[in-house]
Amino acid sequence: MKTPDQTTVAVVGGGLVGSLLACYLGRRGYRVDVYERRPDPRTAEVERGRSINLALSERGLDALRRIDLVDTVMAPALPMHGRMMHDVSGRLTYQSYSANGDRAINSISRGALNATLLDAAEATPGVTLHFGVRTTAYGLGANSLALARGDAIEVVEPDVVIASDGFGSAVRQSLEVSGRVSTLTEGEDHGYKELTIPAVDGEFAMDPDALHIWPRGSSMMIALPNPDKSFTCTLFWPRTELEALTTPEEILTHFATEYPDAVPLMPTLVDDFQHNPNGLLATLHVDPWQAEGKVALIGDAAHAILPFFGQGANAGFEDVVELDRCLTETGDDWGVALPIYQQRRQENAEAIAHLAQENFIEMRDKVASPTFRASKKVEHALERLLPGKYLSRYEMVSFTTIPYADVIERDKRQRSTALATAAGVGAVAVGAALGLLARAARKGS
Ligand SMILES: Cc1cc2nc3c(=O)[nH]c(=O)nc-3n(C[C@H](O)[C@H](O)[C@H](O)COP(=O)(O)OP(=O)(O)OC[C@H]3O[C@@H](n4cnc5c(N)ncnc54)[C@H](O)[C@@H]3O)c2cc1C
Repeated sequence: MKTPDQTTVAVVGGGLVGSLLACYLGRRGYRVDVYERRPDPRTAEVERGRSINLALSERGLDALRRIDLVDTVMAPALPMHGRMMHDVSGRLTYQSYSANGDRAINSISRGALNATLLDAAEATPGVTLHFGVRTTAYGLGANSLALARGDAIEVVEPDVVIASDGFGSAVRQSLEVSGRVSTLTEGEDHGYKELTIPAVDGEFAMDPDALHIWPRGSSMMIALPNPDKSFTCTLFWPRTELEALTTPEEILTHFATEYPDAVPLMPTLVDDFQHNPNGLLATLHVDPWQAEGKVALIGDAAHAILPFFGQGANAGFEDVVELDRCLTETGDDWGVALPIYQQRRQENAEAIAHLAQENFIEMRDKVASPTFRASKKVEHALERLLPGKYLSRYEMVSFTTIPYADVIERDKRQRSTALATAAGVGAVAVGAALGLLARAARKGS
């Protein structure tokens, strides 16, 4: 078996997950080549309207902490301690994310995060970054990658290929064509569009310590703060509806009806709406994630999910930590490590895909309802009553590294009790419910 310094690893895609993976593999001593189809994003212009910021939480932070990058990444981050709901009359309701209101998810710039990770990868001995190099095909026989640099095609045959080339992964598509991988794409009917709320007189136009939500049933808008005191809004809507709204009158009328308090804060609304692209949302169910211990999928290439739990990148970063762990446990034997990596991560990816779908319904339909708000209050009360024993689903997903599949199981045990309590049953029943809950928590949570 080759030692890491004799082993060449090609990482396809230098996005968030690929650049983090290159850091980890470089630190293990591998010879890593990252092939990224875009020009270097640290010097090139940013693409208009493509997810400018994202919410980073504990899973992502854990992956960054392990390679001493967390302070650099978090320096410009903006904490969001809760969600701020805007109803159609402009009334605001705040819900903190944690029982004591002290925990926050973090709004960070996707570009800045990618740049930090690329800088770190570049500074890691053994790692070489190649920009403007598009992978066009992968061949399992010789573990070959066809790389397009302008009109020129070059073929490389590294020892290991890891595909972190996102939702439309070219490596995955080659594996699909050769019958080695099958992919089920679910729910492509929804899309998204990015819009802007700029700073007003150099200050935030809304509270920057919250993720703002305008829940409207079939559609939903959210806004996250940026360091330049603007907010990036994302409107989620069925694609047919997004495409149907075209003229300035249609756009303004729709927003005046659905998001009246936001309109005065969005001076570039019509221009943003007309010129920013419509993004595509879907869930990918991919199987298997690796073949013959020499090629594997990671991040969105393996498990693109809906963005409604703010976990896609966080989950991809967790993949990197798990792959690194598998390499450690197997003495860097890729043939053994990759199947274990798949076995450990796949069920968790399915779990967060499911949780993200459910959270969409929660965010767009339920967050504004009095019953939902009551159930959140009860959840938080239970968290305070049973510290460390009772953890809400949100808390487990965003503020711990409890495997996603375990989150679902534990949440099931806890949820029925919390809902019964929220329904306003009498003190005796509450006592019994708490007793049950404490027992459930002691059992194995
Ligand atoms: C609207 C929206 C909001 C989101 N919000 C959050 C959030 O709040 N929190 C969170 O954790 N996640 C969020 N996500 C999800 C997150 O963006 C993704 O999970 C994350 O970007 C996945 O990283 P990745 O590196 O696997 O893929 P990508 O970020 O897609 O990177 C893939 C890279 O591969 C390159 N590439 C593609 N094809 C090729 C090729 N053929 N050859 C070479 N290079 C190639 C691309 O140029 C790109 O750089 C959000 C997603 C969306 C759409």
